[in-house]
Amino acid sequence: MKALSVGRPWSELILRGKNVENRTWNTRYRGPLLIHAAQSWNPEGVRFAKQLDDSLGAGLNKHTLPTGIVGIAHLTGICTAATDGRPCGCGPWAMPDQNHWQLTGIRRLPEPVPVKGALGLWTATPAVVTAVNAQLDQEASR
Ligand SMILES: [Zn+2]
Repeated sequence: MKALSVGRPWSELILRGKNVENRTWNTRYRGPLLIHAAQSWNPEGVRFAKQLDDSLGAGLNKHTLPTGIVGIAHLTGICTAATDGRPCGCGPWAMPDQNHWQLTGIRRLPEPVPVKGALGLWTATPAVVTAVNAQLDQEASR
């Protein structure tokens, strides 16, 4: 299963409904995408979230937000309009000059799965996928 490392707190914001991930690069991949919260911390993410909605930016703390696989989403499409300076309807999370990775069906894992991230789109090990699926199955049976 494919995974994407996202700096914190952007990773947490995805779990709170940030349905666009901004990347300078593109991929042909579509399908399930594990959201990996990286060690890196971007204070800009807190400011941005609070600008959109105070409650959205609440409790974003470098010391308490987990790292590792924190959720799963579905990469349904990538909008490239902004890279050509064209307007698009990707919403408030979409940044200028970036590809807009469109995420749907975002789900938070009850327990983050600790694993080191990587650059680019990376493939989670079978052990990690098993750990993620066990949590999703458990949730489904509740
Ligand atoms: Zn767009």
